[in-house]
Amino acid sequence: MKLLSFVFPIYNESENIDLLYQEMTRVLGAVEYRYELIFVNDGSADDSLGKLMALQGRDPRVVVIDFARNFGHQMAVTAGLDRADGDAVVIMDSDLQDPPEVALELVAKWEEGFDVVYAQRRSREDTAFKKFTANMYYRVLSSLSDIDIPRNTGDFRLVDRKVVLELRKYREQDRFLRGMVSYVGYRQTAVKFDRHARHAGETGYPLRKMIKFALDGIIGFSDKPLRLISGMGVLMAVISVIGIIYALVRRLFFPAQVVNGWTFTIIVVLLVGGIQLLMMGIMGTYLGRIYTQVKGRPLYSVRSIASTPGAEFHDPE
Ligand code: UDP
Ligand code: MG
Repeated sequence: MKLLSFVFPIYNESENIDLLYQEMTRVLGAVEYRYELIFVNDGSADDSLGKLMALQGRDPRVVVIDFARNFGHQMAVTAGLDRADGDAVVIMDSDLQDPPEVALELVAKWEEGFDVVYAQRRSREDTAFKKFTANMYYRVLSSLSDIDIPRNTGDFRLVDRKVVLELRKYREQDRFLRGMVSYVGYRQTAVKFDRHARHAGETGYPLRKMIKFALDGIIGFSDKPLRLISGMGVLMAVISVIGIIYALVRRLFFPAQVVNGWTFTIIVVLLVGGIQLLMMGIMGTYLGRIYTQVKGRPLYSVRSIASTPGAEFHDPE
């Protein structure tokens, strides 16, 4: 029987844990899979850990990973992915915003042969502000970066084991998992669902964390801001040369209009400024390459290889 792993990041979810567990076991009771429920306690300040340990004591399919402090949602999911043994891993929120039934629809799509099945919101019960900013953000992100993150998706998705193994190679510090998943490729598809409101408790994503997360997406998957600086450097250098020519022309052909010392001053200012910006642009280009290199991402991901073992010893005739 195939094994499914479910990863739940937990930050102050004590009022949701029991219901979440009940719902998951109810839904999974009806299917032909083995499963494990991996809860990652991300430094909760409430009784979440106690609740989880109680579940773990009763049910051996429950795995609890307890972080030493709050490392953030993306780190908690990463820890779950690192630990998961499943043939497929489903990442879900723990506040019942992602309905357990939908997880089975993701599994059904996976059985059709897809490697990544993301759950796409048909509707969502969130504030108008959140919907608006999220919408704007994904527009900007897709125009700045080469990754194409499907609209209206969060981290609720299923990933096949081979994709999980690939994702484990991505060890960058500032993590934007949904970008990484679309970056690796493979066969991806969507399942539509209606996203509920949070069952209990309050969001662990205040605006401050949202902004940090949004920047991680842009900076991790785009070098356009850096390229913009390089472009500005070149542009300013060209403008400086034009300015210098202009100053010289005025000094040589219309000396009566020129204040003493103006030509020299303007040439020095433009020359130094232009050279500095050009140099910054050059440094920016190297910095961009260093950044790509230190991220240490795999060079490529292989979906499958077709070859015949021992073929080198045989003649096809
Ligand atoms: N979460 C986490 N660490 C954090 C913040 C949130 O593990 O620092 C978890 C949280 O318990 C939930 C999921 O990440 O399971 C999504 O967070 P939340 O529901 O608070 O975000 P929202 O749905 O409001 O965007
Ligand atoms: Mg939520």
